[in-house]
Amino acid sequence: MITQATSDNFTGPTWDNSQEYESIACGKFEKDLIKSREQIEHLRQAAQIAEALLTCVASLSEKSVEAIDIVSKAFSCNDTFETLALNLNTYINCILSLDGANKEARQMQGTLQNLFTEAAEAMQPVHQLLITADDNFLAHCLMRETIVPHQFAIKQRRWFKPHLLTLPEETLSTRLALNGPTAWGTLYTNISTSLQCKVETAQGIQTMGVARTAGLLKSEKRDERKAAYNAINSAWRTQQESCAAVLNSLSGWRLDLYKRRSNSRELHFLDTSLHAACIQRETLEAMMLAVNEAKDMGRKALQLRARALKIDKMGPWDLFAPPPSFNSQSQGETLQTFEDGIEAVRASFAEVDGEMGHFVAKMAKEKWIEASVGDRKRPGAYCTSFRKSRSPLVYMTYRGSQDEIGTLAHELGHAFHYWTMRDLHPVQTACPMTLAETASIFAETLVNDKLSERCKTPQEMLSTMWGDISNIDSLLLNIPARFAFEKELYEKRDSKIFNPTDLCELMRNSWETYYGDALSEMDDMFWASKLHFHMAGSTFYNFPYTFGYLFSLGIYAQSKLMGSQFYPSYTALLRDTGCMTAEDLAQKHLGVDIKNPHFWRASIAIARTKLALFENILRDCRL
Ligand SMILES: [Zn+2]
Repeated sequence: MITQATSDNFTGPTWDNSQEYESIACGKFEKDLIKSREQIEHLRQAAQIAEALLTCVASLSEKSVEAIDIVSKAFSCNDTFETLALNLNTYINCILSLDGANKEARQMQGTLQNLFTEAAEAMQPVHQLLITADDNFLAHCLMRETIVPHQFAIKQRRWFKPHLLTLPEETLSTRLALNGPTAWGTLYTNISTSLQCKVETAQGIQTMGVARTAGLLKSEKRDERKAAYNAINSAWRTQQESCAAVLNSLSGWRLDLYKRRSNSRELHFLDTSLHAACIQRETLEAMMLAVNEAKDMGRKALQLRARALKIDKMGPWDLFAPPPSFNSQSQGETLQTFEDGIEAVRASFAEVDGEMGHFVAKMAKEKWIEASVGDRKRPGAYCTSFRKSRSPLVYMTYRGSQDEIGTLAHELGHAFHYWTMRDLHPVQTACPMTLAETASIFAETLVNDKLSERCKTPQEMLSTMWGDISNIDSLLLNIPARFAFEKELYEKRDSKIFNPTDLCELMRNSWETYYGDALSEMDDMFWASKLHFHMAGSTFYNFPYTFGYLFSLGIYAQSKLMGSQFYPSYTALLRDTGCMTAEDLAQKHLGVDIKNPHFWRASIAIARTKLALFENILRDCRL
């Protein structure tokens, strides 16, 4: 460990993707692009026949061999197309992550997006055929080798059968959505990227974009955080009418469509997101019951964090505050080189099983990690993969902070998840958001615990545990408040149009329900500033976070109990995340019923233990 103010020595490595393609202009890239176009042509031919078959779906059994051949051909073309096009797409995204202005890459990104749309449109009648066909026909289809890996995905789609409209209605609604919800979503993103915040700083008022201003919410200086928070909310207030229009239109559009789709069976506004999350309503209710019982814990986490920061009460501007600095020269926190950081992750992974440790070493050796510092690099961190070689990739910016070691562990957790599934058909590796965070949060918890063991002073312990404790208030208060807000919006939207004042009031009430008196004031503009409420593609983009967090804590607890037996069950569980509901997965691999609040209470108890430990550390730090 070295204490250092300048972080140049702490930069991470850059990745090497030349194994995939030398450049966008290379022959291999060109060849894959041509082949992917050819696959779309083959797919279209099959899809045309499938569309014709839709008119006689009731008598499909008689034509079953021909029809099954067609469906099988379509799936095989689409699989080949996706392998090629997604490989190209990952390569392009990698370039754009390092330099968003790369013209050649942007051009190619547009070309690929068109190809994806064309393929999706072509597959539409094939999916429709499988959704509407009778069980007998379906059973025959599912026996075909090319379709077998798609079984779970097809069954998931079949759930939608009672809610399906006619093909022309479906096509019309997809087409109209482009200038409906999709346009509303785009409007919001356009506002958020062009919005300017006026931040009061010691040097006077500075004008900057929302993303940069939001970065200041992580400042060590409370004044700076508060100024950033006020600037962000003032900026959003100037756009509140537009944001309210986006929320009303997105929810109104969806509710209208749900009503149309409720002819033979009611489609509730939570149904599509529950289905996408691969969980049942009872599971969500059981989890929320346990979460609602544990409000005191999130509040306690906030009180303890306030004590550590030597402030009376946390304000909404303090939620992302970093741990207090104990460094006498106040040169910032103790930094670690990338080599030290990745070694900490490797050693923690290796404690679960040698294989997991080898995996981390392999990621570094193969240059599958991009962690350098660059002016043009996009912010954020993610894990992606090359479809052809099935190699995972991790993207982030590493400067040596504790927080970044956590991010590295998180993303390597995702990469390990992918690695355990790399021999499966790609469709079986696509898991819902609820389960996608299992391995990443598990890895983060693992590494944080390992780092705490290495701490020599209570001050170091406090910094190491800070992220874990912030997670408690964020996932047990903030996320549930978002869920409560959105739920009430949908419950009342049918008979009401919400103006900005209504939305502020609803948000304030939702926050008060969870935060109680643990915050000095509520963020009533959160409905406008939070992107997740304004996305055209998904609703209730909130509860899966809390689910992922608690589910993974439950698994972490198992790792302690099961000893050497744990690793094989863990990898078996991860391998099943793309082809099972969360309920089945938990029952099969952990022998637990997640529809029972007991499971969730047990996970919350782990967080409670952490909280008690943190309180002792504060005492040791004389805070
Ligand atoms: Zn993640």
